[in-house]
Amino acid sequence: MDIRVSVINIGNELLLGQTVNTNLSWLGQELAAIGLPITRTIIIKDDETEIREALDSCWQNSEVVISSGGLGPTNDDITKAVIADFFSKVLEFREDVWSSVQTIFQRRGLEVPEINRNQAMVPEDFTAFINRLGTAPGLYYQNGNKKFFALPGVPIELKGLYKDYIKTILQNDFKSQPVTIKTLHTWRISESALAEILPEDIIPPEVQLAWLPQTGRVDLRVYGSDKTKVLVTINKVKQLINQYIWGEDSDTPQSILHNLLPEKGMTLSAAESCTGGLVQKLITDNAGSSAYFKGGMVSYSNEVKISLLGVKDNTLQQFGAVSEETALEMAEGVRKLTDSDWGISTTGIAGPDGGSSEKPVGTVCFGISGKADNYSYRTVFNGDRESIRFKASEYIILLLIEQLRRNL
Ligand code: ATP
Ligand code: MG
Repeated sequence: MDIRVSVINIGNELLLGQTVNTNLSWLGQELAAIGLPITRTIIIKDDETEIREALDSCWQNSEVVISSGGLGPTNDDITKAVIADFFSKVLEFREDVWSSVQTIFQRRGLEVPEINRNQAMVPEDFTAFINRLGTAPGLYYQNGNKKFFALPGVPIELKGLYKDYIKTILQNDFKSQPVTIKTLHTWRISESALAEILPEDIIPPEVQLAWLPQTGRVDLRVYGSDKTKVLVTINKVKQLINQYIWGEDSDTPQSILHNLLPEKGMTLSAAESCTGGLVQKLITDNAGSSAYFKGGMVSYSNEVKISLLGVKDNTLQQFGAVSEETALEMAEGVRKLTDSDWGISTTGIAGPDGGSSEKPVGTVCFGISGKADNYSYRTVFNGDRESIRFKASEYIILLLIEQLRRNL
């Protein structure tokens, strides 16, 4: 029998568009990974009638119901009272929950406000999951083959409680087939062009294929509960589109770089214009990147390109700031300045203004300067200022990765 899983996300802020419902996407991934994908979701405001109706319909319809939000001690958080009432349970005081609430406040060196005694009130016959990261415990009620879980809305607390308690309970009690998920990251090819390369019969009926367009590139996800079939399929797909694949699964451009450069014992520096430091931000997202990343600069004006990087006035005059020639001199300049093995650069037109027919908005030039060779590239990205800057930042890292792999 298929296990039906309902998720109820409660919170006024979710419906007003002030908070993105990341709890749903996170739970969706986690539950799919243990073979219990969400079958339906309801998003409602902190309102007694809405919560009651959602509980009523989900509890009838599903074997597993998970709610998030509204478990706090303040007046707007009414979920717990409605849950207790819906299941006809009175709230009772739990000593162990109260001491964990007190510990949380003591750790912060604060007095425990009296209102927090509410947090220790749990519906009878419910299990309270102690929350290590906040004051609202998770709640669990089981009746026959049905399970109900209530979690706080704060994403980090919801994740902690799911991992500490719920995942194991669901896995043990439902013995479902975990889903095997493989993801391929591609670049320099559109979704439709990829689809043309892959014949339809490459995906057997038990295996699913999902196209996931990312900013500036496409991810291909193959998944299913038959692990062998998923692995065979992914290998066939890989063979056909190998030249467009730069990474797999949880890889990011910067995580690959993080492994590649130390492997080669090489160092890197960056000179950025249109990306304003984003390339260096991405690289230094990796803890320990100081092992290979020396530093760099945001050389936004021509003046700084000349005075600090040694870009020639003549190059700027003749080819312009957005040109492969300037990009190359920037990359070389920063490499020499910092005595690195590699220097990379970005210079482009992120918009919304400043484009021309020859160099439209989205035009970005890149430089890669190594001790032996220099390379330059030019491309045009679609999108607004933010997405152009992001795409360009990932692109230069991917170009460098390509270069490093070529030199393996
Ligand atoms: P607390 O004990 O912190 O009051 P709570 O269960 O009452 O817990 P809420 O008040 O509903 O939680 O939400 C707390 C925070 O979590 C808010 O900042 C809210 O925007 C955020 N949040 C709530 N629901 C979600 C969700 N579905 N996805 C992402 N963030 C959420
Ligand atoms: Mg709330």
